[in-house]
Amino acid sequence: MAEPTPHLQTPAPAGGLGNSNDSVRRHNLSVLLRLVHRTTGISRSQLTRQTGLNRSTIAALVGELAERELVIEVDPDSRNQVGRPSPIVRPGPRALGIAINPEIDAITVGIVGLGGVVHRRIRSVIDHVPTAAEAVAISAALIDDLRDEFDLGHRAVGIGVAVPGLVRSHDGLVRLAPHLGWIDEPLAEMLEEATGFSVVAANDARLGTLAESIFGAGRDLTDMVYLNGGASGIGGGAIVNGAPLRGISGYAGEFGHTLVRSGGIVCHCGAVGCLETEVRRASLLSVVGLADADADDLESALLAAATTAAQASDTTNLDSVSTTTDPATTTTDPGTTTTDPATRTDPAVVAEVERQLDTLAITLRNAINTLNPQLIVLGGFLGALYAVAPDRLDRNVAAQSLPSARDSVRIARAELGTNLLMIGAAELAFESLLADPSSV
Ligand SMILES: [Zn+2]
Repeated sequence: MAEPTPHLQTPAPAGGLGNSNDSVRRHNLSVLLRLVHRTTGISRSQLTRQTGLNRSTIAALVGELAERELVIEVDPDSRNQVGRPSPIVRPGPRALGIAINPEIDAITVGIVGLGGVVHRRIRSVIDHVPTAAEAVAISAALIDDLRDEFDLGHRAVGIGVAVPGLVRSHDGLVRLAPHLGWIDEPLAEMLEEATGFSVVAANDARLGTLAESIFGAGRDLTDMVYLNGGASGIGGGAIVNGAPLRGISGYAGEFGHTLVRSGGIVCHCGAVGCLETEVRRASLLSVVGLADADADDLESALLAAATTAAQASDTTNLDSVSTTTDPATTTTDPGTTTTDPATRTDPAVVAEVERQLDTLAITLRNAINTLNPQLIVLGGFLGALYAVAPDRLDRNVAAQSLPSARDSVRIARAELGTNLLMIGAAELAFESLLADPSSV
């Protein structure tokens, strides 16, 4: 699908207002740098086509960005091309974003370049849930360790923070991070004082959404919904008409707290029957008998227990798995977690996976009917859950959603893995540079 057409300005006619040519040039630099950043490499001729600017204007603008080391030009691989190849414009080394992600058991700091390249990621494990002040002190120390190596004083454009909680967008105040126990912490302000860099903070799932939409499963799409399943719950976000859905204060996209079960249990948010009280990583770990596991290990365990030997390489139909383990037709007791040696399926695991997928389908139906997305991206343990029986979720969602909206949507897994939040947080840091590249 084509890149959404960037908003371009052509030079004002001679005799226009005083600085209009300068503002046009700065705007066009911004359009070009965003294209290079998002594509991670694009030929000059593609830039010409996508912007509608003429070749000499593109050459001058690229030259200015290259002078600032925001882009570099490399010779393309010309072996398969006829005629003179167009140079490829790639993100340059000048600008770095610093990413921070505080969690209940660790603080992670990353150094990220334009184009979503993670140069370094350091995860500092802590043995207790950190206060905001501790998280700031640990982050500042980690950044100090990297300061000389990456010449951060010269190259860092700012800090972006991915917070597992509700963050007020205009000033980076953490209103509530329930699992960290933070309430009304002026996190961005504290980090600015401790590091000297400008700081922007946002909800972690919102930043995961942004990262997947730019560099991951949602590349080149304008309408996407993202749900991430983590240890402490389900976060989410949406890209609507090419822009992140924010809401008036930045709290939009809390799909984890949408109703899936009237009369369900009380959620920590105070409401009853929220998605994250029913679709839980802990329940999946428990049913496969694991104390703790990352999303990859959980997925392996679920696949091993919920698919037959024949289906292990093609795990697309849990319904047939259910049929082979139907308690009415086999001797397997559905109340135990004993694995049937004939099929290698575990009915308790199959039942829990089906229950969680069917519950997740309710939230996805609501998202589809409300937002009409092209793509729903599932990250964390939700991706693992989907991998066990993608057909079941696809069918279930299709059966419930309005036909007009379901025809244009598909479900996919997140692509960016462990770098997701570093890339997303760095986008916050890069925004002012991308908006005005001549500011560096
Ligand atoms: Zn809730």
